[in-house]
Amino acid sequence: MGRPRAFLEVSRTEPGYRPVEERIRDFRSVERQLDYLQLRDQSSRCMDCGTPFCHAYGCPLGNVIPEFNQMLYKGNWRIALEVLLSTNNFPEFTGRVCPAPCEAACVAGLSTEPVTIRQIELAIIERGFEDGCLEEKPKRRSLAGRIAIVGSGPAGLAVADTLNSIGYDTVVYESAPMPGGILMYGIPDFKLEKWVVSRRIELMKSRGVVFETGIRVGEDLSFRYLNTRFDAVCLACGAREPRDIKIPGRELANIYFAMDYLTGHNTSPAAESGGDYHVISARDKNVLVIGGGDTGSDCLGTALREGAKSVNQIEILPLPPADRASYTPWPAWPVMLRKTHAHKEGGKLLWGVMAKEFQGEMGAVNSVRCAEVVWKRDSMGRPISPSEKPGSEFILEADLVLLAMGFTGAGSKELFLAEDLELDQRGSVLADSEGRTKKVGIFAAGDMARGQSLVVKAIADGRRCAFAVDSFLKGRMKGFDRNC
Ligand SMILES: Cc1cc2nc3c(=O)[nH]c(=O)nc-3n(C[C@H](O)[C@H](O)[C@H](O)COP(=O)(O)OP(=O)(O)OC[C@H]3O[C@@H](n4cnc5c(N)ncnc54)[C@H](O)[C@@H]3O)c2cc1C
Ligand code: SF4
Repeated sequence: MGRPRAFLEVSRTEPGYRPVEERIRDFRSVERQLDYLQLRDQSSRCMDCGTPFCHAYGCPLGNVIPEFNQMLYKGNWRIALEVLLSTNNFPEFTGRVCPAPCEAACVAGLSTEPVTIRQIELAIIERGFEDGCLEEKPKRRSLAGRIAIVGSGPAGLAVADTLNSIGYDTVVYESAPMPGGILMYGIPDFKLEKWVVSRRIELMKSRGVVFETGIRVGEDLSFRYLNTRFDAVCLACGAREPRDIKIPGRELANIYFAMDYLTGHNTSPAAESGGDYHVISARDKNVLVIGGGDTGSDCLGTALREGAKSVNQIEILPLPPADRASYTPWPAWPVMLRKTHAHKEGGKLLWGVMAKEFQGEMGAVNSVRCAEVVWKRDSMGRPISPSEKPGSEFILEADLVLLAMGFTGAGSKELFLAEDLELDQRGSVLADSEGRTKKVGIFAAGDMARGQSLVVKAIADGRRCAFAVDSFLKGRMKGFDRNC
């Protein structure tokens, strides 16, 4: 523990964001970072609890948070970095975009404010890069075994990085022009600048991971080829099947899926690399975003930066409580109202509202008929079934509609079905908790196997899957045949 009474004496400090009037004019990262003295103070707030819920329950990676807090407090950055990297391949991603379930499970949060764990994690890894601790170091091959990884989002990158560091040859196949998955093509720069992703990819290349981009497995390269040339195949193709809305007027023009909109605006690097991306413009438009989650809020922030005339966002779920809902008690991830930085920049988010009809003229949408929704709740207060509030209909002007209602399962489904891989009820590839599918030697990780989730969970899945691949290959070396 840094200082035994610090959590009583030092209050939580957040780095905050750049001023709205400044950040709304550019796409650069909006969040500031704490300086060294602030970080040291913040790390001293860690109580080194007997049962560290942040580590054991909150963080999907099992980051050893009390230990790196203590090392940072003592100024021992190098050891803090080693502790952090022992469980997290990419703290520079989670340090920027993780919603920090660890902080929701921090024991200090029961009586005061939780420790600023995400900021501390980000500072440790960035200091590591600055000090040259993560420099390129070509590794010597030690283990026989080649693994193909399909998809280069955080899950595929974690599989490749982990197996590469164990000593295997890894080749990552990616259909997009650049690696990174949603890190590169979905999450806007104002949350995660793209140089952060490119820096990691370059580091992985320098350490021996091979990236083959612009190759769609199943079309440009057969699965059979991978099966015969590699000792194991890991699928990490994400869950990109967008949920659609089936209401009258859906056929009108200017109604797009959120990812098509975001990808077009995240393509500064992609466009330069020759990707064929359609850029949908929100400039001078009345924009309606349907869906109140993270993807919707990313659309909102992007449309505001583009100079939209107005941006409304509707969410069918009711307004969450201001504090932790009673049905998500500590240390669970709390259901509660969270305003993202994008919501503080402008636009309007309407809770408990559903879209009923897209209206338009000349074949293009110009407004949306909406209605308020009343939710029936269970005994714990959880919303369980919605119904329309009679007489509550209203019209929202909208000449650009973005659908951000989540995803219904794995993309590239034809590829898996052709390989006799099973899908579960949610449309995800069926695999055990370590990523083994029912086909020996074929593994699945990330959103593809768990459904659309979080970067931190994709990395955790990728690591678990890599260790399962390692055991599988070592077992085979001992005489178990891959196809037996
Ligand atoms: C707009 C948006 C914002 C988000 N913001 C956050 C956030 O702030 N914080 C957070 O924690 N999570 C966020 N998420 C969720 C998070 O990004 C995902 O959970 C995570 O990226 C999943 O990683 P993955 O590797 O499983 O899949 P993906 O990142 O989707 O990567 C899959 C990759 O596989 C490739 N691929 C697919 N099929 C093939 C094929 N046949 N051949 C070759 N390549 C193929 C795709 O091109 C893609 O690059 C966000 C999601 C979206 C959509
Ligand atoms: S990865 Fe996320 S949950 Fe884990 S320590 Fe970092 S911020 Fe917390």
